[in-house]
Amino acid sequence: MKAIDFPKDIQAQLIPEPSGRLVYACLGCGADHPADALLYTCPSCGGVLLIEDRDADRLRKTPGAHWRRLFDYRKMLNEPALSGVFLFHEFLAPQIPLEDVVYLGEGFTPIVAASPTLADQVGTPFFFKNDGQNPSASFKDRGMAAAMSFINHLVRTKGLKDVLSICASTGDTSAAAALYASYLAGSVKSAVLLPRGKVTPQQLSQPLGSGARVFELPGVFDDCMKVVEHLADRYDVALLNSKNAWRVLGQESYSFEIAQQFDYDVQDLALFLPIGNAGNITAILAGLLKFYRAGIIDGLPKVVGVQSAHADPVFQYYSQPPARRTYRPVTVQPSVAQAAMIGNPVSMPRVLRLVETYERAAGGPRFFVVQVAEQAIMDSMLLANQNGHVACTQGGESLAGLRTALGVGIVRLGETAVLDSTAHALKFADFQNQYYQNGFGPEFRITPKDELKNHPVAIVPEGLTALPAPGHPLAPEDMAAYVQAVGREIARRLGLAEKR
Ligand SMILES: *Cc1c(COP(=O)(O)O)cnc(C)c1O
Ligand SMILES: [Zn+2]
Repeated sequence: MKAIDFPKDIQAQLIPEPSGRLVYACLGCGADHPADALLYTCPSCGGVLLIEDRDADRLRKTPGAHWRRLFDYRKMLNEPALSGVFLFHEFLAPQIPLEDVVYLGEGFTPIVAASPTLADQVGTPFFFKNDGQNPSASFKDRGMAAAMSFINHLVRTKGLKDVLSICASTGDTSAAAALYASYLAGSVKSAVLLPRGKVTPQQLSQPLGSGARVFELPGVFDDCMKVVEHLADRYDVALLNSKNAWRVLGQESYSFEIAQQFDYDVQDLALFLPIGNAGNITAILAGLLKFYRAGIIDGLPKVVGVQSAHADPVFQYYSQPPARRTYRPVTVQPSVAQAAMIGNPVSMPRVLRLVETYERAAGGPRFFVVQVAEQAIMDSMLLANQNGHVACTQGGESLAGLRTALGVGIVRLGETAVLDSTAHALKFADFQNQYYQNGFGPEFRITPKDELKNHPVAIVPEGLTALPAPGHPLAPEDMAAYVQAVGREIARRLGLAEKR
């Protein structure tokens, strides 16, 4: 729809101007640093940063009902910069002018209702939000769009040149960083550090395809993260891990979208998210709080983090009695939820801060963490996908988490859950294969269930003298014999009755 066709009161705010006063707020010493350059840790104390808008009060001057109408109308506008996560510009990164926004098709991923059979089996209605339908096939694109738009802004306004973006990754961050950097190839180059053998072949192919420099390191993600932090301390590079607070800012869009997709009625929902480095859950809590404070949503949903028993530092922390909680990193064991296989989440200080603020705002316990077994993750992913969904292993983890939460009473039967399927199932096809072929090593503790397995069946018709092959078409009589023999065999295996 064209701008002039919108109602007059909407037209005035349809195209947002830069606004707000963003600062890097240090969670260690409490200092504010202006958010007009790239900063990853507090220059005073080395603490973790969150970007906050010190002029957020202006947002409360517009009534919640008006924001809701504005965002809903904006969805009908054909303006690329406002078609993705920046649709929520005033709440996302309002100081970035629209001309600097990098939009590659991220955001507004579908919410798909659990198939009736699956919902029956689980016992409660739920939805998957398919974040694997982002351009590089994971939610990481949301944060990357914000971070790269900011870098693009610095390139234009501050003459930043030859930016080298760098990140450590369990696979998806590097895919997203390499994709967005390659779009800005004139001014940004990208390098990614991956733990060798700990990302899937599909994930490895992504930064390679985008033209990034790819380094494979011995160790796990936590080790790569240490190297990247060392490089960011010593050299002039742009760190694109979720330590970069712009990433977290972009990922807040997930919660804004859920609000909009449920007509801003989210109070009775339970949102399930896998936790790895804890950037995503931080962003979801922060985003929900922003919308709540601006009166756009009337209540705060339950937020449930899910961790595998093989990488569960956040679960371990919140299982301790509140007065005696101490945070300890864990040593990870191999996990099929490989994108979340992290023992020392960079965003843990952010989680601690935001959970406290969130529960204070909600007036009671609204944040939970559950732990699930590797077996439950795989079984849940395969079950979901056999019922019409496209869940990755981490999406399976979300579903396993919902089942656990129902079991322990965090969620009651009849409550509606929204599960984050954080990446596309195709990225993790190897884990599906390993399940089908009993290929898991003993460390995973996964015993494949026959009813969830599937195999291709090779049809080798007997008694045929000629078979089709590339470049060698069959003679008509051989073709007829081939079709008949193969057709008969398939009909036999499927138990088909002949037409009468
Ligand atoms: C990065 C990632 C996660 C973990 O998210 P964090 O923000 O690190 O907690 C989960 N699933 C997928 C597919 C990911 O790429
Ligand atoms: Zn500080």
